[in-house]
Amino acid sequence: MAMDVDVAVVGGGACGTMTALRAARDPDLTVAVFEKSLNEGCNAQISSGSLAAGGTRFQREAGIEDSPDRHAAEILAASGDDAISDVVLAVCRSAPRYVEWMADELGYPIELGTDMPRAGMSVPRLHTDVGRRGGQRLMRHLRGALNRLDNVAFVDRAPVVGLLSGTSGVEGVAVSQNGMSSEVRARHVVLACDGFGANPSLMREHCAELGRPFYGGVSTSTGDALAWLTELGAAVRNMGSCLRHGLVVVGHGTRLNPALPFMGAALLRPDGKRFIMETSLGYSALAAVLQHEVGERALLVWDEQAMTQVMRSELMRESAKAGAFRRYPDEESLTGALALPPEAVRSSLSNVADGRSLAAPLYAAWVTHGVLATQGGAMVDVEGRVLTQRGDVIRGLRAGGGTAAGFAGPSSSGYSSGNGLLSAFGMGWRIGNALAEQSGSGRSCVR
Ligand SMILES: Cc1cc2nc3c(=O)[nH]c(=O)nc-3n(C[C@H](O)[C@H](O)[C@H](O)COP(=O)(O)OP(=O)(O)OC[C@H]3O[C@@H](n4cnc5c(N)ncnc54)[C@H](O)[C@@H]3O)c2cc1C
Repeated sequence: MAMDVDVAVVGGGACGTMTALRAARDPDLTVAVFEKSLNEGCNAQISSGSLAAGGTRFQREAGIEDSPDRHAAEILAASGDDAISDVVLAVCRSAPRYVEWMADELGYPIELGTDMPRAGMSVPRLHTDVGRRGGQRLMRHLRGALNRLDNVAFVDRAPVVGLLSGTSGVEGVAVSQNGMSSEVRARHVVLACDGFGANPSLMREHCAELGRPFYGGVSTSTGDALAWLTELGAAVRNMGSCLRHGLVVVGHGTRLNPALPFMGAALLRPDGKRFIMETSLGYSALAAVLQHEVGERALLVWDEQAMTQVMRSELMRESAKAGAFRRYPDEESLTGALALPPEAVRSSLSNVADGRSLAAPLYAAWVTHGVLATQGGAMVDVEGRVLTQRGDVIRGLRAGGGTAAGFAGPSSSGYSSGNGLLSAFGMGWRIGNALAEQSGSGRSCVR
C-alpha cells in the first residue's frame, strides 16, 4: 500500500471518527483512518455513550440552565488540574455544538438524561440516545456517516506501528497490513488510539497503586502511541490516573447504574453496616474506597422504587441479562442468603442516602473496583497539537481522547462522569475543524 494523504488518523474510535468527520467537510482534504481492529473494537463502542455537555438546547427545552463554563468549572473543581484549564474550557465550549450537530445533522436520536444524576454534577448534563442502547449504537451511527464521505478512507486491520518524522516534524505513519509494513505520507497525523488500559506492563509502571482491578475496557488500548510520543520528546501528564468504576459486579464484570445511590441504594460491609454517604462520591472515586475494603468489595442493596427508575439503562439491562444481581422477596431472605447480620442490615436500610427506608422486594449484588480506561497521556494545546516538555509544538502531530492527558487530574478520583467521551469527541471536533479551516481550499463547509 502506497498512500499520500492530507490527514492520517490513528484509530477509528470516538476521537478518530469525529476528527475525520469534521476534517472531511473540506472536500479537498484526503483523510485516511487507520484502525487496528474493528472486530476487537474501541472503548467508545462498549461505553454507555453518555455525552456530557453544558448549555445544550436539550437542557434548555427541559428548563435546565447550564453553560460550558459551568461544566468546565465543575470538571476542574473535581480534578484540581488547573494546568490544562484552557483545554478543558475549550472542549466544554465545543460540547453543546457537537451534541446538537450529531442530533440535527447526523440524525442521531439524542435526549437529555434527566434520570442520570452524578456526584459533582450540579444539573442534568449527560445526553444519551433515545432508547438507551449506548456506545454501540453511537459508533455505528457515526461510522455510517463517515462511510458516506468520498474523501475518507477507513482502513480496518491496519495498525499504525510507528511515526515517520523528518525535518518538518511528523510526516506520516508506518502501517502494518497483512504482515507487511508500508509508509503513508501525511501532512497531519492525529493520534486517536486511546490509552494503555489493556497493557499490563504499562499499567504496572504507571498505575500500580490501583492494585489488581477488574479491567473493563477493550483489548486494543495497548498504549501504542506512548513510545512514539516519548521518542519525540512529548510531555505527558497524569499518567497514574484512570477512569475507574466502583460498581462492577463481582464475578460478572458488568456494571450497575451509577444513578442507583441517588435513588436510595445502600452500600453495606459484610457486617451489614453502611460505611459511606453513597451519593458523595463519583463512581471513579468509589473504586478507590472499595479497593481498601475487606475482600475489595461491598454489597449494593436497592429496592423496587430505585429499580423502576434505573432499569431503562443499558447497564442494568446487561447486568440483568447476565444474572449479575438477585431479587429477594423480603429482608430475611436477603440476610439469610448472604449470611448478613439481620439487625445491622435492618438499621442500614431504614435510613438510606435519600432519607427514606428501602422496602421489600430488595435487590442486591456484590460490587468491586475496576478500571475502564486510562487518563494519562500527551500534553496538547486547545487544538490538539502535541507539546514538548518545553511547551513547543511538535509539528505535524495532534492527539486527542485517551491518547492525550485526560481531565481527571493526577488522581482517578478527580474523574467527572462523561469526561472520557467529552475529551475524545471534543478534541476530535476541534482538531477536525482546525484542519479543515487551515487547508485553505476555499471550498470548506466548516462551521
Ligand atoms: C465500559 C466503558 C464505559 C464507558 N462509558 C462512558 C460514557 O458513558 N461516557 C463517557 O464520556 N466515557 C465513557 N467511557 C470512556 C470512553 O469510552 C473513552 O474515554 C473514549 O472512548 C476514548 O476515546 P478514544 O477515541 O480515545 O478511544 P477509543 O474509543 O477506544 O478508540 C481508539 C481506537 O484506536 C484503535 N487503535 C489503538 N491502537 C491503534 C494503532 N496502533 N493503530 C490503529 N488503531 C489503533 C483502537 O482499536 C480503537 O478503535 C467508557 C469506557 C468504558 C471502557
